[in-house]
Amino acid sequence: MKLLIVEDEVKTGEYLQQGLRESGFVVDWARNGLDGHHHAMIAPYDLIVLDVMLPDIDGWRILRSLRESGNDTPVLFLTARDAVEDRVKGLELGADDYLVKPFVFTELLARVRTLLRRGRAPTQIDQLEVADLVLDLPRRRATRAGTRINLSSKEFALLELLIRRQGEVLPRSLIASQVWDMNFDSDTNVIDVAIRRLRAKVDDGFEPKLIQTVRGMGYTLDVPDGR
Ligand code: CA
Repeated sequence: MKLLIVEDEVKTGEYLQQGLRESGFVVDWARNGLDGHHHAMIAPYDLIVLDVMLPDIDGWRILRSLRESGNDTPVLFLTARDAVEDRVKGLELGADDYLVKPFVFTELLARVRTLLRRGRAPTQIDQLEVADLVLDLPRRRATRAGTRINLSSKEFALLELLIRRQGEVLPRSLIASQVWDMNFDSDTNVIDVAIRRLRAKVDDGFEPKLIQTVRGMGYTLDVPDGR
């Protein structure tokens, strides 16, 4: 899961970045509104933590421009003022939740996890396909050549990540942080075991084989060349 923090206050930004990284997220931190706007518009994030009071482009303008461009990435905004109008304005502009500063990290983390669980807006795609493998995201179901594949929630998350990043070689550390919400720097065996199980379910008895090991680098899912 990849998050963007837009926050000009260095102390708060560092605190958020460190805390969210330790919680297993991949985190980009934009230190001003211009950078934040740029990042939010061009890069795919699972969630944006958006400070409202920024010296150049404020959080409201970033949020408005995101929503006007059809970008539905969940936004948790941070406001220093405990003003009702602020909260109403943020939610009207299409933010998903807010926190009033100062906040404790555990509360922010809880909000972030809730928003991520709530999932993507219905306007976004709800089905992923590679060859005859189909993931039905709302129903959390996978099929291959029309045959239902029973997956655990971790296996589903792993397969979803591989399909969303089709053709990219994903290092074990990235898989660990995105699927297990933890760092497995010392124990990548967990990933190997999970991949082996997933491969048995997804590829055994089917052609072409989609999940591939890239020696020394990680794993990728793709339709092999020439197919
Ligand atoms: Ca600020």
